[in-house]
Amino acid sequence: MKPASPALLVQTATPSTVRDVNRRIILNLIRLHQPISRADLSAQTGISRSNISEIVDELVLMGMVKEKQAEPSKRGRVPIHLSLNDDGFRVLGISIRAGSTSLAYAGLSGHAQKVITFPTPSTPQKFVRMLAAKSIHGASGFFQHVGVSVPGLINAETGEVLWLPALPEYAGFPLATAIQDVVGVPVTADNDCNLGALADLWLSAEEIAGLQNFVFLEIGAIGVGAGLILGREVYRGYDGRFAAEFGHMIVDPNGPNCRCGRQGCWELFVCDQAAWQRYRGSAPFEATSMATLLAEARNGSGDAMRALEETARYLSIGISNIVLALNPELIVITGEITAAWDLVGPMIENKFAPSKIAIRVRPANLSPEDLYLQGAISLALNNAFAKPRIGW
Ligand SMILES: [Zn+2]
Repeated sequence: MKPASPALLVQTATPSTVRDVNRRIILNLIRLHQPISRADLSAQTGISRSNISEIVDELVLMGMVKEKQAEPSKRGRVPIHLSLNDDGFRVLGISIRAGSTSLAYAGLSGHAQKVITFPTPSTPQKFVRMLAAKSIHGASGFFQHVGVSVPGLINAETGEVLWLPALPEYAGFPLATAIQDVVGVPVTADNDCNLGALADLWLSAEEIAGLQNFVFLEIGAIGVGAGLILGREVYRGYDGRFAAEFGHMIVDPNGPNCRCGRQGCWELFVCDQAAWQRYRGSAPFEATSMATLLAEARNGSGDAMRALEETARYLSIGISNIVLALNPELIVITGEITAAWDLVGPMIENKFAPSKIAIRVRPANLSPEDLYLQGAISLALNNAFAKPRIGW
């Protein structure tokens, strides 16, 4: 019997790789600039007109791109405009949150349609049964891939949940495989903040300008989530289990106890609950507390403003640490605190930042809820748009 061949360690480029890479670049350019002509694609890429036409013809044949004659003008040739065929690749995005789960369908352009929301069951078995009961089946051809956003640690390669403090019963559950058994098409799952970063990249004007490396932060009610985009791709650590857990950088070794089992993690100083406690001491922290704090600060409350300022100081400490380590182009922040960005942003960027380092921060384009659902869609669509893996 012949011995089994060893697993491939290196993915080498073959003659078809160049074609594959170029096809995905063209598809991405059409997505970002549609409607666009073959001539413009050629001008933007330096690829000859005839090669562009070959690639475009292939994409049209695959059903991913459609052609439309532009309105005739008085002179010159009437160009044919290319745009994505939204139905050429359909996906389902699932965003699991502690309280509720949202589902949305999308086509190649990534616009979320038909959002369904239901309370998140406390066990993953019930969750999968609920999905099955909702008659969501990809095998009928309605969608070809599913992306799932999970608010905790998940092995992005296997889709197994590792740590999910808000839904502890989910830990150890093979979520992607179980959903795949229900829907009948491939399922990919990832951490919510990784997907928030991906969604922000997809939706931002900076993407068109070629944003390569940035950090995404969610300043949440009781913690901080983060995602890291390097070279326009989510960085997931060497084994796909976690990376960029900036919320758990220790800023005070004698500080309060953290959910991770250590003390004085950054998230304990910058989350909404910390800001609230600076303002109101031991008064109970509720869902509306942060909005109250922000409103009070706007109404001129000195105490509320001081609580925000101290929170901004800690935000600045952590963000400077991240900037010193990674020198990203940008930090994108989501969370309730961004509703007072006119007050907090300048403190982070100017008042407390290290004098020699430019800190570029902006609020995200969407709320965390919308970002994570959009991110699940982007994850599923990555199959159509991402470049093939080559190298060691
Ligand atoms: Zn921690």
